[in-house]
Amino acid sequence: MKKDKYLRERGGTAKIIDVECSKCSSLLLTYQKDGPGWLKRCYLNRIISPPNMAELNKNPLIKSTADMPYLKCSCGEVIGSPMRYKDGRLAFHLIRGKFKRELNKELS
Ligand SMILES: [Zn+2]
Repeated sequence: MKKDKYLRERGGTAKIIDVECSKCSSLLLTYQKDGPGWLKRCYLNRIISPPNMAELNKNPLIKSTADMPYLKCSCGEVIGSPMRYKDGRLAFHLIRGKFKRELNKELS
């Protein structure tokens, strides 16, 4: 779990959740959700796995939303689109109804 200023700004509590495709139930991301409330977006610096998604945050070629892929399931469903949040972080804006979230009991 990442403990930094972003976590502190959200009240210091976080959960590890699995984000799944609502159509085919494939696991899309394992993600650190900071603070309370609904999951509306996934910040790149909070993606734990899979490795190719977790590495987006460290990729020097990804500087803006134009450099980011869409968040897409292997079944073809588009789950999220690139966005930049007001604090400067790049994220995927999640499309309502396209995903499910489950608490990851192993990592939380
Ligand atoms: Zn799917």
